[in-house]
Amino acid sequence: MVGRVIKNYNGYYYVDVGPAGLWECRRRGKVKTKILVGDMLMITPIDTSKGVIEQVLARKNELRRPAVANVDQIMVVMTPAVPKLNYRLTDTLLASCMYQHLTPILLLNKCELNPRMTQWYTKYYRQCGYEVYAVSAYTGAGIGAVTARLDGKMTVFSGPSGVGKSSLLARITGREDLHIGAVSKKIQRGRHTTRHAEIIPLREQTYVVDTPGFSAVALVSAAPEEIQNLFPEFVPYLGRCRFSPCAHMAEPDCRIKEAVKDGHIFRARYESYCQLFQEAKERKK
Ligand code: GDP
Repeated sequence: MVGRVIKNYNGYYYVDVGPAGLWECRRRGKVKTKILVGDMLMITPIDTSKGVIEQVLARKNELRRPAVANVDQIMVVMTPAVPKLNYRLTDTLLASCMYQHLTPILLLNKCELNPRMTQWYTKYYRQCGYEVYAVSAYTGAGIGAVTARLDGKMTVFSGPSGVGKSSLLARITGREDLHIGAVSKKIQRGRHTTRHAEIIPLREQTYVVDTPGFSAVALVSAAPEEIQNLFPEFVPYLGRCRFSPCAHMAEPDCRIKEAVKDGHIFRARYESYCQLFQEAKERKK
């Protein structure tokens, strides 16, 4: 049987095998691979809802924070209210998703607090080529559309503290225990208790990771010339500059810089690109 690890507790792995339920499994001695939440496992039944792990199947990908495998998409949560949306941070997170081949979806939470800015950011990021949803964990606005968008996927929620990631997760999963402010969660746990990520099965093949996280650490390994591919609205212009390769910085006859000048690419996005490019270049030195 094949199933997905949704929780790891005291050496037991809880494996979701679909209609056959949740199985409590231990690893066979010969299975030495590290097992992450999200991993797909081959298991053999030994008792009612108990099994042994025979094999860890190849991973599609692996996130570090939270430590989960086989993620399909990331919901990047920001807000038009407080904390104020930081363009640079938003662009970095979105680029980081792209770098890991994970579709980013931008959620603008607390939309009821500032409809005007919600509209502004929605238009802005859609124009950049992203999927954007205006949502409210409080009023429930947009939650139906986001829940539908989770279908058949494993999703991680990401974004800075205070934007409402836990509130959204609680709304979507109906699990109120997730709704504890990030800070108080840390205090309750203490600094040295590690808490493993857990996956919450919502429907068949549909999961959300209960621990919001995912930082832009992934970009650390990005080469400078890869950064341009992480900005969806740049793609139609790539390969058409006079110089090849073109860094879109000091080079003359650069299509990206022209598009910025003509207003087809937002200047702030171009500046985010320049910063990420420079950072990647510094790392290479
Ligand atoms: P996290 O740090 O991203 O997990 O954010 P929390 O879920 O802890 O929420 C941060 C604060 O924003 C809390 O005071 C929430 O009550 C509040 N909040 C979350 N979602 C909404 C929303 O949709 N509307 C409003 N007005 N406040 C919200």
